[in-house]
Amino acid sequence: MDILDSVIKIKGIGEKSVPLLQKLDINTVSDLIRYYPRDYDEYKMPVPIKDIKEGETVSVEGAISRLTSQMGRKKVVTCYVSDPSGAIKLIWFNQPYIAKLLKPGYRYLFRGVVKREFAEFSIAQPKVYGRNEYLKLMDRLSPVYSLTKGITSNFLSKAVGQVLDEIDIEETLPAAFRKQNNLMKLSDALKTIHFPKTKEEALLARRRLVFDEFLEFISAVRRLKEEKTEERNSYIIDDFSSCDRLLEKLPFELTNDQKKCFSSIKNDMSSKKLMSRMVEGDVGSGKTVIAMLAMLSATKSGYQAALMVPTEVLAKQHFKDFSEQLSEFGIRTELLTGSQTLAQKKKIYKSIENGETDIVIGTHALIQEAVNFRNLALAVIDEQHRFGVKQRQTLKEKGLEPHILSMSATPIPRSLSLILYGDMDLSVIKEMPKERLPIKNCVVDTGYRPTAYNFIRKEILSGHQAYIICPMVEYSEESDGENVIDYTDNLKEFYNMAYLKDGKGKDINIEYLHGKMKPQEKNEVMERFARGEINILVSTTVIEVGVNVKNATVMMIENSEKFGLAQLHQLRGRVGRGSYQSYCIFMKGCEGKDIDERLDILKSYNDGFKVAEEDLRLRGPGDLFGVRQSGEMSWKLADIYADADLLALASEWDKENGT
Ligand code: ADP
Ligand code: MG
Repeated sequence: MDILDSVIKIKGIGEKSVPLLQKLDINTVSDLIRYYPRDYDEYKMPVPIKDIKEGETVSVEGAISRLTSQMGRKKVVTCYVSDPSGAIKLIWFNQPYIAKLLKPGYRYLFRGVVKREFAEFSIAQPKVYGRNEYLKLMDRLSPVYSLTKGITSNFLSKAVGQVLDEIDIEETLPAAFRKQNNLMKLSDALKTIHFPKTKEEALLARRRLVFDEFLEFISAVRRLKEEKTEERNSYIIDDFSSCDRLLEKLPFELTNDQKKCFSSIKNDMSSKKLMSRMVEGDVGSGKTVIAMLAMLSATKSGYQAALMVPTEVLAKQHFKDFSEQLSEFGIRTELLTGSQTLAQKKKIYKSIENGETDIVIGTHALIQEAVNFRNLALAVIDEQHRFGVKQRQTLKEKGLEPHILSMSATPIPRSLSLILYGDMDLSVIKEMPKERLPIKNCVVDTGYRPTAYNFIRKEILSGHQAYIICPMVEYSEESDGENVIDYTDNLKEFYNMAYLKDGKGKDINIEYLHGKMKPQEKNEVMERFARGEINILVSTTVIEVGVNVKNATVMMIENSEKFGLAQLHQLRGRVGRGSYQSYCIFMKGCEGKDIDERLDILKSYNDGFKVAEEDLRLRGPGDLFGVRQSGEMSWKLADIYADADLLALASEWDKENGT
């Protein structure tokens, strides 16, 4: 078996599993062994029932009683388990066989998540074990993978185990260096990350794999840098007269940081060397207008410019913005997205090729498509700097060498920026537009919901809009957390009742948005929200990046505990983008001291740099398998902040040994 073979070669993986694995981005043997667990299950000593807390995964041991089963359309089995300290209810949905398996009066072990309904605790869908069976599980960790329907963690771990037994993995680092820096052998690290004996061991394996992830990235950055020194500027951009006109037209004045940033860009684009610049600015600091100015001057100097963004929704939004602002300058802007028909696309390709189109806006796929630019002089890559490197490589492969402007909302300490963006010049926008009022934050539990709904209703009635974020798309028995579909129904009902009481808010329009919808539908919903036709948008995190609706003043996030701080900060950045007072409500789905501590950071700081710093201070190195950073910064394992030492180490290693 070879590392690049299809997974079909693995014993136990049949035709049927292949498309399922594909959904998880697992195509080859290599993909499979690099599909790391997202967590490990630890089978701990059973706890006394009186000590269990809501939201925890616990094991309890005791005799069962009051076994009932209801067999209608919904099959529900319930019973109580009691130990000397107390009793708790157990509930199973759609597992009628459980009723036959359990014998009243006998003792079992049960493991699952503790829930609370009104005053009563229960464990939903607990797994059932015999005593010996459980004891065996107690002395190791079991990998837990992110899954899709039809694939279980068990299935994956079996397949991984098999592969790791069979193939040889080549070592890339010398033993002395590994020893000196506490880095495992690659083959051991891969085995251990899937099957660790202890959490400590897993962390050590992770250390090696993180080092490799960083090293790969840094080498790519270095290669780009080495090639860059020879890049002469064949696109001199020096006509900035329209920019002044555009600036006069804007309803605001640029902040000092924005001005400084644009002036560096002007210098770059008109100089002898090609521009390669990173603009780093917190959410809402006004990066788009900088891109617009740069692109306007490129076209006015006789060239084409492209803007690439991570989502279609964002592409549409920017397209609308750019078309409106730039049409009077005689600039022709086109949108290119995956959901357009082939005929539409062909037409656009043609107008790009013959130069009728000045500006193209699209998703990152833009540069991979069959687009042949007539004279692309500037490529702007928005909101996804981690992939900036890849995109630049792709551009090169296509024989394009435009000026590059990357934009990122992820705040990074300067020392790290120097490594990550080693091949680029850096502009930082720290200052927020003057008109902004700081967002008011609160952290509350679900008991506060009615108050929050009434508050949102008031904001809507005074003409504003709101977002509500739920972690899930639809109801699932596997995991808890609010889902957008049921949530929307419930919210509608709540507002109907309120309307019946005081006669206000009859037309409050609530709709939902999630990643499983078709791109077309998503765009439509987003557009109607932007036009103010939808008052409340209940959404998953698909709206996380970049969306700009100034009139939205409330962001409420359900199950905030399920998200990483960086992601929560990004979500919060969807409000407070205009001059109105805005609010962010972090709703907790369960209690816990560490949850409070994390969310308090967001309550106390609106500044992304500060949030990142505090987040790191809180998360010890042992916490890295918990809530992950998400969004543009996520490597498979590496975390810029927490693994800063490894980033530096990889950088040094690459300097001395890289090829
Ligand atoms: P981000 O940096 O997150 O991409 P945007 O560029 O989308 O932020 O800007 C957010 C909002 O702030 C936009 O509506 C934009 O028009 C506005 N804006 C940008 N610069 C300024 C400024 N100097 N003063 C006031 N508003 C501004
Ligand atoms: Mg933006």
